Amino acid sequence: MQLLPVNVGTKLLADYASIASRGLMDSIKALAEPLAGKRVLHLSATAFGGGVAEILYTLVPLMSDAGLEVEWRIIHGQDEFFDVTKTIHNGLQGDPTCLTDEQKETYRRFNRLNAEVLEGSYDFIIVHDPQPAAMIEHAREAGGRWIWRCHIDLSTPNRSILDFLLPCMARYDAAVFHRREYVPDSNVLPASYVWPPAIDPLAPKNMALSAEDAAYILDQFGIDVDRPLVTQVSRFDPWKDPLGVIEAWRLVRQRHPDLQLGLVGSMAHDDPEGWDYYNRTVNAADGDPDIFILSNLNNVGSVEVNAFQVHSAALLQKSVREGFGLTVTEALWKARPTVAGRVGGIVDQIQDGETGYLVSSVEECADATSRILDDPVAARALALRGKEFVRRSFLTPRLLRDWLALFNELSGNHAAAAEVTTAVRPA
Ligand code: UDP
Repeated sequence: MQLLPVNVGTKLLADYASIASRGLMDSIKALAEPLAGKRVLHLSATAFGGGVAEILYTLVPLMSDAGLEVEWRIIHGQDEFFDVTKTIHNGLQGDPTCLTDEQKETYRRFNRLNAEVLEGSYDFIIVHDPQPAAMIEHAREAGGRWIWRCHIDLSTPNRSILDFLLPCMARYDAAVFHRREYVPDSNVLPASYVWPPAIDPLAPKNMALSAEDAAYILDQFGIDVDRPLVTQVSRFDPWKDPLGVIEAWRLVRQRHPDLQLGLVGSMAHDDPEGWDYYNRTVNAADGDPDIFILSNLNNVGSVEVNAFQVHSAALLQKSVREGFGLTVTEALWKARPTVAGRVGGIVDQIQDGETGYLVSSVEECADATSRILDDPVAARALALRGKEFVRRSFLTPRLLRDWLALFNELSGNHAAAAEVTTAVRPA
């Protein structure tokens, strides 16, 4: 029983030359040269649903095209393990629930089992998020350098859960966070780096899709394409606040009675809580025929998400905590007017009133959405500025460059790395 490899196909860096700047493409080439043939392993909990999978489907093939030998493998787990890792995830984002001794043992046991079936040896092992983070305790020799890539908002962690993980964090050679505020206050952490994630502008999720094609796709789901629609795309999760979105939509509907609501969320297998929250969302919708709750189970894949994003008059991401919020990046990239929670990485993406709207309550969310519906021309101007911001900062070639810079840094090639990585707590 080996760790399952994910087949990511191939992608060519050259295809991104017309979207990324010349300087960035040159920098990628220069940073990749000394790394030719280096073996890299990405480890994560799932190949489906959520931001990590989204990123790796593009990053892994592009890293390969840059000349490295790259694999992505998924760890094994069962509900009892994913229940524990969900508690860890929530705790790291501030939920007060603590782990029982039995849960800690379950976490350790699954990490040990996964470490035992890790084969091969790598120059760099990148562990995404907390689920596989303790594998390092049992498989240190499999990787020359181990890097923990955290995709979570760690600004106000439940200290007991953070303290449980810190001893294994301490064994890493480096850790990477989305934002400075997420680097935990601890003197055992390895050198820590900060850079945001990115989206793939050429992936089916983000590629150009005409308004007609988007409308055609939405029509298949029963959306009335002649009436306005607002949509939130995200997992069914309390931090994403789908119930708050329904409340806000009900307020907006008092002034815009035609308005429909799309709640599009994939169900990830490492997210047992998702079902519970999905059911709560369905209950809150109370059978309203203008609320469309859809997921991958209704065949909503990447192109369909793209269509929802392209067609919607406004995109909502009313999160109350958010590691980064790739859905916001996706919305801005499509030049859609966006209303999102004033939390986490969202505030790095939206300048309130400049490129979209930041909100902290149901009422604010409803007000901003109404403003967009009342004046779509002004809203479009904001969204276009948002798109240019994403082009400069949050597309995959920049993410690839940051990883290559870190590999150089960890290989002792400090000069190459200096211009691009931000060491906030060098070892
Ligand atoms: N996503 C999707 N289908 C869905 C819901 C989400 O493809 O039904 C994608 C979404 O487009 C985005 C990612 O999953 O690319 C979610 O990333 P984000 O950073 O917004 O949130 P996370 O789920 O990682 O907390």
